[in-house]
Amino acid sequence: MNILKFEERFPDEESCISFFKAKREQEGVVCKKCEEKEHYWLHSKSMFQCKSCGFRTSLKSGTVMENSNLSLRKWLMAMTFFSATKQGFTALELQRQMGFSRYQTVFDLCHKIRVIMGKRDDEYKLEDMVEYDEAYITKATAAEKKKSLNRGRGTQQKSTVAVMAESTILEDPKTKKLSKSCRYFKMKKIEDLKAKTAEKLIKDFINKDAVLQTDDSTTYAKFEDFVDVHVTELSSTKEGRFNLKWAHTAISNLKSDLRKYKMISERRLQNYIDEFCYKLNRRYFGERLFDRLIIASIQPYWQSSG
Ligand SMILES: [Zn+2]
Repeated sequence: MNILKFEERFPDEESCISFFKAKREQEGVVCKKCEEKEHYWLHSKSMFQCKSCGFRTSLKSGTVMENSNLSLRKWLMAMTFFSATKQGFTALELQRQMGFSRYQTVFDLCHKIRVIMGKRDDEYKLEDMVEYDEAYITKATAAEKKKSLNRGRGTQQKSTVAVMAESTILEDPKTKKLSKSCRYFKMKKIEDLKAKTAEKLIKDFINKDAVLQTDDSTTYAKFEDFVDVHVTELSSTKEGRFNLKWAHTAISNLKSDLRKYKMISERRLQNYIDEFCYKLNRRYFGERLFDRLIIASIQPYWQSSG
């Protein structure tokens, strides 16, 4: 949805209340106190009331919006901007577009939206054929943040990001030429390059029936315990480049996407990556991206994600 349509569809807070009410009813409202699912709607208070124990649930309650003083309309507007373009917005751009006076408010809002994007993608595992590789992403160091006024000074440090890409080999029946198509991606910031770290990611995020493709490295020696087949190729060879084609493409796209942010802290890096991946995985969604993001925004947020 673009911003013109937004103004038309959500002219005031009232319209946003009925929108979120319908969405929450669709997903099912559960009473926090007694787990009852039947509720009355208290029109004057814009709240659900449990039919069994009388406990009240606000539209924001339990969601990412809980504890936020921002209106539902501001949340909807931010999610419109987040889903309106492929490249996304920086907090500074969003601050101008949405007319916020405080930068921090927008900054926090943006990161909360990125967190729900990441949580949503964590619900799915990759399957079939999966490429796995690691990338180095420039991050801001504490010293660099201090020096940010004198641009160009300070050493740039790198964070390591594991990249997983579902990709399938296709063969042209006439020419027998091989190509690869890709589906879903996952990217996770990792603390080290130890085999244990990679193993955990593979266990958590890749289906055990998958065929795993990696670089030919000793770190990756024992992966066949976690997947069906493990294929390795030297990444310097033509076969190796083909083996990790989509992981490498995604890495270079991630790097250019992150260039729009002036500074990326270690602590927030995963959030930026989550936004990138969420959109990449939904690259064919078009207009539906907005609706998917709304559904993600009203999922239980405060439970531990495990
Ligand atoms: Zn109840």
